[in-house]
Amino acid sequence: MTGGTDTSPFHSGFVSVIGRPNVGKSTLVNRLVGQKVAIVSDKPQTTRNRILAVVNRPRGQIVLLDTPGIHKPMHRMNQKMVDTAVRSIGQGDLVLWLVDVGEALGTGDRHVRDLLKSAGRPVVLGINKIDTVPKMKILPVIDAFQGLLDFAEVVPLSALTGDNVERLTELLLTHLPEGERLYPEDFLTDLPERFFVAEMVRERLLTHTREEIPYVTGVLVESFKEEAELVRIHATIYVERESQKAIVIGKGGSMLKTVGTEARRQIEDFLGAKVFLGLFVKVREGWREDPRVLAEMGLANQREE
Ligand code: GDP
Ligand code: MG
Repeated sequence: MTGGTDTSPFHSGFVSVIGRPNVGKSTLVNRLVGQKVAIVSDKPQTTRNRILAVVNRPRGQIVLLDTPGIHKPMHRMNQKMVDTAVRSIGQGDLVLWLVDVGEALGTGDRHVRDLLKSAGRPVVLGINKIDTVPKMKILPVIDAFQGLLDFAEVVPLSALTGDNVERLTELLLTHLPEGERLYPEDFLTDLPERFFVAEMVRERLLTHTREEIPYVTGVLVESFKEEAELVRIHATIYVERESQKAIVIGKGGSMLKTVGTEARRQIEDFLGAKVFLGLFVKVREGWREDPRVLAEMGLANQREE
């Protein structure tokens, strides 16, 4: 038996974190893990890939699958994101469905409910962002959702402030099967460093640009070289039109400089090394429909288990 106290059994398993875009899934994953593994922004559809992160507690281990938000697909890329989300529901021992307490229950939620019903996995409902509403508004939301599905647990929480997050962790562990650690205790994620670099650049872009830009950019790490004193990285930011390229570069290169500097600092923190980050911007019309570009970004060839 690995870990656990002498009396209580050790629990472990996979938890798929699902929910509509922007409800706070990545924020919650980062908080549970205690380190930044998923990028967060106030723009929907920030998460494109599946992220696996590991939460270690004395009484168990939770392996989290952070999924792209479930929504109506519009592009080939979005279709892949939705496929990933639906597939990952079936891969978990347990599903954590996260919703935003401030958003009215709608067709999107019923769609998620239908997917969950057909997956047949136990579901814990997390009602997130309770820091944004008065306490009296929380109960009616719980009631409304409880009519949708027979949940294993319903937990109001705030991923941002951490309110009730430890309680959620305990409940997730309780509903996972008894078993040994699935990953070593120091294991954080299975994503390659290149992916983090691309995501950090994309996050800074999302933060500093407006409206159309976030949805038309993709970041591809062209080279990643570890030298004696520093890690030398070159990455290309893809956009769809010249006008978007001008925005990403900014006046006299100011936007690209801000994005590059901030991303570099985050990458240095993550890698624990000095980093040189060279960014280029390329116009490639329709890159989101181009299977080759998607494959290069790791979006087309996701693992099938
Ligand atoms: P995802 O698309 O579901 O992964 O959502 P993100 O984690 O990227 O979060 C979307 C936005 O909601 C970001 O601006 C977060 O800072 C914000 N957010 C996430 N959780 C909370 C919360 O508990 N309270 C508040 N006030 N904001 C939150
Ligand atoms: Mg996300």
